[in-house]
Amino acid sequence: MILATDLDGTFLGGDPDNRQRLYQLIDAHPDIQLIFVTGRGLEVVVPLLSDPAIPRPDYIICDVGATLVDGHTLQPVYPLQSEIEATWPGEQVVAARMAEFPGIDRQTVPQQRRCSYFCDAGAVTEEVREAVKALGCDLLYSADMYLDCLPAGVNKGSTLRRLIEHLAVSEDEVLVAGDTLNDLSMYEQGFKGVCVGESETALLDATADRAKVLHARLSGCGGILEAFGHFGFLGPQGVSSELPELSIKGKADLVMVYHRLPYEEAMEEGKLVRRPHTSPNGILPTLMSFFSGEQRGSWVAWSIHDPRQGRVFEVHTKVDDERYPNLVAARVALTKEEVDVFYKRFSKEAFWPTLHTFWERAIFREEDWAVFLKVNRLFAERTASEAAEGAVVWLHDYNLWMVPAFLRPLRPDLTIAFFHHTYFPSADVFNVLPWRRQIIGSLLQCDYIGFHIPRQSENFVDVVRGVAPVEVLETQGCAPRFLTYGCAVGLDNMTRTMAVHGRHIGLGAHPVGLDVGRVASVIDEPECQAQMQELREQLKGLRVVLSVERLDYTKGILAKLLAFEALLDAHPELIGKVSLLTICVPAAREMTIYETLLAQIEQAVGRINGRFSRVGWSPVQFFYRAFPFRDLIAYYLMADVMWITPLRDGLNLVAKEYVATQGLCEGRGVLVLSEFAGAAAELHGALLTNPHDPHDMRDTLYLGLTLGRAEREARVREMFGVVQHNDIKRWGDEFLQAVKDSRREGEAFLNKG
Ligand code: UDP
Repeated sequence: MILATDLDGTFLGGDPDNRQRLYQLIDAHPDIQLIFVTGRGLEVVVPLLSDPAIPRPDYIICDVGATLVDGHTLQPVYPLQSEIEATWPGEQVVAARMAEFPGIDRQTVPQQRRCSYFCDAGAVTEEVREAVKALGCDLLYSADMYLDCLPAGVNKGSTLRRLIEHLAVSEDEVLVAGDTLNDLSMYEQGFKGVCVGESETALLDATADRAKVLHARLSGCGGILEAFGHFGFLGPQGVSSELPELSIKGKADLVMVYHRLPYEEAMEEGKLVRRPHTSPNGILPTLMSFFSGEQRGSWVAWSIHDPRQGRVFEVHTKVDDERYPNLVAARVALTKEEVDVFYKRFSKEAFWPTLHTFWERAIFREEDWAVFLKVNRLFAERTASEAAEGAVVWLHDYNLWMVPAFLRPLRPDLTIAFFHHTYFPSADVFNVLPWRRQIIGSLLQCDYIGFHIPRQSENFVDVVRGVAPVEVLETQGCAPRFLTYGCAVGLDNMTRTMAVHGRHIGLGAHPVGLDVGRVASVIDEPECQAQMQELREQLKGLRVVLSVERLDYTKGILAKLLAFEALLDAHPELIGKVSLLTICVPAAREMTIYETLLAQIEQAVGRINGRFSRVGWSPVQFFYRAFPFRDLIAYYLMADVMWITPLRDGLNLVAKEYVATQGLCEGRGVLVLSEFAGAAAELHGALLTNPHDPHDMRDTLYLGLTLGRAEREARVREMFGVVQHNDIKRWGDEFLQAVKDSRREGEAFLNKG
């Protein structure tokens, strides 16, 4: 069959459950051909196509019948489109003539081969009708406000008729659906039709005598479902027997979806063993802590599985029976190849550079995107079968961007929340991504989306605005928690809630915090104390500038080395007195894109040391290896200046770890931080520097080395206050609370209609 349907008030209208039922029914029946027949211009239909919950139409008739395109390619259907084109006198001609009449205002929406206006019924005079006729156009006036000048003989019904003949489909197999007088021409073609509930009275009156037209009781999609049953479109059993079975629900009230398992898997003597993570970042224990009570939970993550080995893959494993008795891990089986493509290659080569505004470095491969989609679908399916009715699903990071697109149609009942752990760029950069519409369409299935800082959240809103019409429902001031005009990533005001495609979406800034208690307990360890003592001896009489980061072009390591060289040139009195210790964590071996950067860094270190070294002193000490956390803490305590200068960074935990160490030990160290790191918007008290400006880099470091004692103490106190208060526990609690608040607000929004 063919369903030819109007959009606003019809296919996009009605009770959310009925919308979901109809969309699922269409998705489950590839033999139902779907045609959108709308007064919107094509550009305003396109946003719907990136909404994964709405079925993709086979054809789109838009501009009230004046435009006809294929729903998949968006290319015109020839020769039908050229036949319409031939009868249109041209926009300028029509617009010029209509401008002569008072009370008729041109609509500002996108429109092609038609000119659309707003006016009162009184403005549609005989003179206007004559003028339109003389232009060789038809006049259509509907809903007491819309006036359209269309090519003669062109309307929704006539274009639909041409298309049905072109497709050589029997008229009996067509059902048309609408709700305003604008749709009347479709019923006049003699197709079976439904005027959905709450249709415009004029349409109901005009179709009252038509035997093949049902006046449905339910509005929007509900009315269309009624018509399916009424006309027996899906067989004698009716619609209900045709609805696909919803997936079997699980038991977890909170589902954590994270790329890493909450424990580490390793092969020992040919056997798979489980052990706690050797390098736990602060987030894992915090996320796990949500499951220490009564709450039933599930943790969805991937696990490598080689089907050729013939081993049975265990989906569910226990995490820690004593500490988290109600938590199970639900593993998604991936091959090593899939993990390498999805996680190590594609995410790092395509998304990481773009997210951090280095889009020229990005490599986009369509075949990798296909793997990415597959992995995301597997994650969504696993999540759907873990979550209890109405559960909260918390998705983490860009590796899982497409999960909401697959999950929402499977489980409309879930509250889906997403947290971005990286930077999120502005539309200028993000829109370079070939799959931006799909990605944004997927994220718009979420109920709540969190970022580190307001700037990233607002960048997201800006990207969405380029993909679909956005209604900002509520904004909020960002001060005093965040810097507003004081740094490159500051912002004064951000969107708190928005509506897109009738869906309510909450947004929030939640900079990840530290487990300050963990830092404190590491400081108390005898090994850490011994390490500090040893360093104190070794670094006696030396001022230490410390830099700690992964090898990555986003971290600005090269610019930092050059600035240090410039400092020694400008202040020769520092020679022999100040050393830069840089700890650089190597990238995974598969990530070959970092090789050139490493060579450049090594060259710069060699040159600076060659130029300035003295017996017993070298300006730069370069450590190309990862340090255990305990050793790092000892270095943090020793550093007079912590110099963190990423060109772009989602947050930067190292900055907070330094502040925590100094704060806990009542230190007087100075944090010189890039104003492009997310943490810069939060850490009041840091000395901010612009890593793109060599002079500023040199001078701010100098300032950091020469600040007076009282000021250094005051700055540490201020920053430590921030880090201590907004710790990792508060981060997790606030995020989940915001998700719950947003769900409540979303329900109220839907009820308001
Ligand atoms: N880190 C570490 N050993 C090192 C260097 C860094 O364990 O030799 C840890 C550091 O303590 C921090 C993390 O790596 O927790 C880096 O996080 P950050 O947010 O600063 O940067 P990212 O790597 O996430 O971009």
